[in-house]
Amino acid sequence: MIQIKNIEKNYGPLHVLKGINAHINRGEIVAVVGPSGAGKTTLLQIVGTLEKADAGSVTIDSIEISRLKEKELAAFRNHHIGFVFQFHQLLPEFSALENVMIPALIQKKRISESEKRAKEILEFLNLSNRINHKPAQLSGGEKQRVAVARALVNHPDVILADEPSGSLDSQNKIELHKLFFDLRKEFNQTFVIVTHDENLAKMADRIIQMKDGLIILPEENLL
Ligand code: ATP
Repeated sequence: MIQIKNIEKNYGPLHVLKGINAHINRGEIVAVVGPSGAGKTTLLQIVGTLEKADAGSVTIDSIEISRLKEKELAAFRNHHIGFVFQFHQLLPEFSALENVMIPALIQKKRISESEKRAKEILEFLNLSNRINHKPAQLSGGEKQRVAVARALVNHPDVILADEPSGSLDSQNKIELHKLFFDLRKEFNQTFVIVTHDENLAKMADRIIQMKDGLIILPEENLL
């Protein structure tokens, strides 16, 4: 599903990724852990086509994304990838429903179709009674679920989450991770989750441990 080969990335003189190799299967939930500055977010951004690698390749579903042009990349991202970030990044002036509809509208779905999809996914996430609330009127856990709904509205194959539970309390953290498993069961999506949370990482099918721009072996798991 996701094939990462010899990825290298520099920010100026900083060699942030030093040759990353990994294979992630369809429907797998993988946690990426490691100390601050290890390169976890950079790797996630490269897989998510938000950053370009300086060397190596990423192939998702047989498409080598590193070869795509800017316009093709945007279309690929919109179609195949959903992002969930720590600080929800919901648009404050829009309702939960409108926030979730946005990626569908960007994909040029009709308003009625976008609304239908958004309502379905919000219902799946138990948010049907919150659709007209603005982000400020939602709890932290609800906001994060709306952010997950927004990531899912285009039915992406891959969900990339960067510290998705970072701003939640422990109960909501567990709920969010259970939700990832429910979603996988329902839609067979692939999840790559960057987390500092040991308990959440342990819930994943597999842990990828990074240090100083490299993946270190699971045997050396320093968690
Ligand atoms: P954390 O757990 O603290 O989020 P991380 O493992 O996700 O860390 P990255 O965010 O990938 O680490 O950052 C790796 C290194 O690259 C850090 O030293 C960071 O300062 C640097 N870095 C990240 N993004 C940029 C950028 N856009 N420009 C310059 N340096 C950057």
